[in-house]
Amino acid sequence: MSGTFGRTVTAVTLLAAVLLLWTSMAAPAAQAPRIAIIIDDLGYHLAAGRRAVNLPGPVACAVLPESPRAALLAKAAFAHGKDVLLHLPLQSMSQADSTEPGAIVLDMTRGEFAHSFARSIASVPHAVGVSNHQGSLLTQHPGHMGWLMQEIDAKGNLFFVDSYTTHRSIALNLARESGIPAVRRDVFLDSDRSPETLEREFERLKKLSRQRGMAVGIGHPYPATLEFLERELPKLAEQGFQLVGLREYLAQHADLRPVRNRAAGVEALHFASE
Ligand SMILES: [Zn+2]
Repeated sequence: MSGTFGRTVTAVTLLAAVLLLWTSMAAPAAQAPRIAIIIDDLGYHLAAGRRAVNLPGPVACAVLPESPRAALLAKAAFAHGKDVLLHLPLQSMSQADSTEPGAIVLDMTRGEFAHSFARSIASVPHAVGVSNHQGSLLTQHPGHMGWLMQEIDAKGNLFFVDSYTTHRSIALNLARESGIPAVRRDVFLDSDRSPETLEREFERLKKLSRQRGMAVGIGHPYPATLEFLERELPKLAEQGFQLVGLREYLAQHADLRPVRNRAAGVEALHFASE
C-alpha cells in the first residue's frame, strides 16, 4: 500500500517537475514594460539642473543650446551616465519670430539653418540625440524638418525625439524616412505643475508602457516634478517596470530603427501614435 503510494507521489512529483520545466521553456519570462523619461529645458537654472542630473536611473537630460549653463550641465549629465540631448528650439505657432538662442525659424535659408544647427550642437557637449523645444509650427513643415534630419544624419550616431508639441507633427516620420532612429513623446508629466497632474500623467505613462511595452515621458525641472521623480523613480523596479535610457532603448528596438520607404514609414508612425 505504502509502496504504491510512494510510487504515485514520485510519479506526480516527476510529472510536476517536467511540467514546470516545459512551461518555463515554452514561456520565457516576459520583459518588463519599459519607461523612458526626459527632463527638458535644462541650461538656465543651475540648482534645478544639477538636481535633474542627479535623478536616479538613466533619465535623459535635454539641454537648451547656448544657454548659460548648457556646457556645465551637459558635462555633469554625461558624468552621471545620463543621455544628453540637444533640446533645439523650433518656431511655434505662437511665436512670430523667436529670439531664443539657437532657435530655428521658418524664414531661415538652408545656409542659415546649417550654421545655426552647428552652433547649437557644439554648445551641448556629449549630445547623443536631438529633441525639439516647442516647434508647433516648424514640425509641420516638411522642408525644414527635412533640413533638420539632414543635419542630424550628417553628424552620425544621433537619434531624434519628437517632443510632439502638435498632433500635426511630421518630424517622427521624416526622421525615420531619413534613416535616423527616432521616438515620439507619449506623455507630458507636468503640464500644469500640480501634484494631481503629475500623479495622473505618471500613471498614464505606466499604463501605456504596460499596453505597448514602452512609453516615453517628458518632464521639466520644476521643484514639484523633481521631487515627484526623486520619490517615484526608485519604486518603478518593484512595480515591475524598467527605467531605460533612450539610446539603449533605440539600439535594442528593431521597430524603432529607421524605415527607408514611405509605406513602412506610415506603418511605423501608426504604431507610434496608437
Ligand atoms: Zn522644451
